[in-house]
Amino acid sequence: MLSSGPRPRLIGLWVACWLLFSPAASVGETQRILVLYSNNRLLPANLEFEAGLRETMASSTESSAEFLDYPRFDGEFYIRALTAFLREKYALRPPAVLVVGGEEALDFLLRHRAELFPRIPVIHAAVTRSFLSSLLPLPADVVGVPIEYDFPGTIDLALRWHPQARRLVVVTGSSAQDRAWETELRGEVSRFQDRVTTEFLAGLPTDAVLKRLSRLGGDTVVFTPGYFEDGVGRQFSPREAARLMATAAAAPVYGPFDTFIGTGIVGGSMPNFAAMGRRAGRIVNDLLDKVTRAAPRLPEIMPTAVNVDWRQVRRWGIDPNAIPGDAIVWFKTLTLLEEYPTETAAAAAAFLLQTGLIAGLLLERRRRRRMDLAVQQQRFELAHAARLAIAGELTGAIAHEINQPLGAILSNADAADLLLASGADRRDELRQILADIRRDDLRASEVIHRLRALLAKQPVEWQPFDLNSAVGEVESVLRAEARRRGLALEVQTAATSAVLIGDRVQIQQVLLNLVLNAMDAANGLPEARRVITVSVKRDADRLALVVRDRGHGIAPEHLPKLFDSFFSTKRRGMGLGLSIARTLVEAHGGCIRIEPGPGEGAVFRAEWPVANGTTVPKLA
Ligand code: ADP
Repeated sequence: MLSSGPRPRLIGLWVACWLLFSPAASVGETQRILVLYSNNRLLPANLEFEAGLRETMASSTESSAEFLDYPRFDGEFYIRALTAFLREKYALRPPAVLVVGGEEALDFLLRHRAELFPRIPVIHAAVTRSFLSSLLPLPADVVGVPIEYDFPGTIDLALRWHPQARRLVVVTGSSAQDRAWETELRGEVSRFQDRVTTEFLAGLPTDAVLKRLSRLGGDTVVFTPGYFEDGVGRQFSPREAARLMATAAAAPVYGPFDTFIGTGIVGGSMPNFAAMGRRAGRIVNDLLDKVTRAAPRLPEIMPTAVNVDWRQVRRWGIDPNAIPGDAIVWFKTLTLLEEYPTETAAAAAAFLLQTGLIAGLLLERRRRRRMDLAVQQQRFELAHAARLAIAGELTGAIAHEINQPLGAILSNADAADLLLASGADRRDELRQILADIRRDDLRASEVIHRLRALLAKQPVEWQPFDLNSAVGEVESVLRAEARRRGLALEVQTAATSAVLIGDRVQIQQVLLNLVLNAMDAANGLPEARRVITVSVKRDADRLALVVRDRGHGIAPEHLPKLFDSFFSTKRRGMGLGLSIARTLVEAHGGCIRIEPGPGEGAVFRAEWPVANGTTVPKLA
């Protein structure tokens, strides 16, 4: 684990002198550098390094690259051929600065430098501190910032993020580099022996490694630096090997190189290859820039950082609080709140406000609905009370309506008595008398039945009914009342059926009210004006109930108040009849109004629009 922070140190003295005394390149002149890599061109670490280097170097600097292709190519002949090739290739176009990426490249260069690139300053990168110490003393014109692969730091991280782990599996390969890593790791793991038992899968065929990893239990974590070569000589890049392992493993896999991120490993404490490239690029710039005469300061070591793949954090149930705040978190899809905190807070506030408003409106609606229901109930009660009042007014007529058949029954019974006393066989006549008695009885019970329908407190019933027959049902009681008051009543029903949808008792109540008012208006007037006409009218788009009288009429100043509750010009009037009539007519989708009459008296017209043959009620 890296404990000491980067401490600046002076770049090599020789390089400082080189800066001062080497011939200055004129401004704008192209400077050439050569990068020599240990491994092959496509190694992910090389690509990352190259990107960082190019990003930092001055645009006037021209770079070319050579690859030792280690460990795929090695051996005396290969090295000899490669040396000859490089010598010939760069004899006429020598680079101004050499960058070496990786330990094998540095080792090769130091061995063949005098022959290939004498006196050309060298910048090393991606070389571990321990390897450098094996090369000491380094020539003064070989500079760079060493690295350290943080194997123990990564293992420590894995064990902290998986506190339940009791076993550590370490996978390494069989190339010289792989074996060097294995040796290093065998030394490092001893410090974790109190926490876990360690198992090495070293130098095995890849198939065997993957099979073993796929059978691991939940108490295991895996660490691997990847490998260049497996136990049967198959070549890999460490990244490829790591990808295969992470895909197959039934336990979380950790690695020490940032090029492994995205392969399925969880993460690790990693130096950054792009950062190494950028650092090398800055040193190149300093060496080539003859204006900067000061010796640049270099940190003692490249720092490592915790890198973690957020998808793996979720997959393995790692506690997010265990991830250090300065960790580089990959593939984390930010939540809306994290990405747009202000906008999300505003939207949430607007949403809450809107929800509050909607809840308020719903409550208000419920309250109003409850009030509407209460008002409806009161109207219903009032309408019923008004019907009782009407019945009170019609008591005389009703008594007459019932008395008439009762009287007829009595006289028929008397007549039957007389017939029986005569002793003659008058059976046919007696049969006729009994039929009359039965008919009168039915008439009386019919009157009582209708009266009960009018007075009973029944719930409102919405169904189609014929206005003609509804009028007919109350006609006899109205006629009886008219007779009692010495009035003439004319009833004209419509020629066709006049279907209204609603409550027939309520519409009968409207009619009774209008006719009783008309009767009151005709009170005390000469006989010619004591005529009341009730008509049912039906045309294409309207159905109307019209009550006309020739009474004293309505004073113009009373017209606007006529349908108001409690407006009455009568000594004992309650002033509720017309207002209730209007409520009932409107509840049936119609309207009620006073029509200008042809002379004296008043004409009240209740009217309903007709669609598809029936009226369209406004359900209360
Ligand atoms: P009430 O009959 O108890 O007075 P209404 O609401 O039925 O209550 O009538 C209100 C008023 O309208 C009556 O007092 C009367 O002045 C007037 N009115 C109603 N119908 C007629 C009519 N046919 N002719 C003249 N005035 C009428």
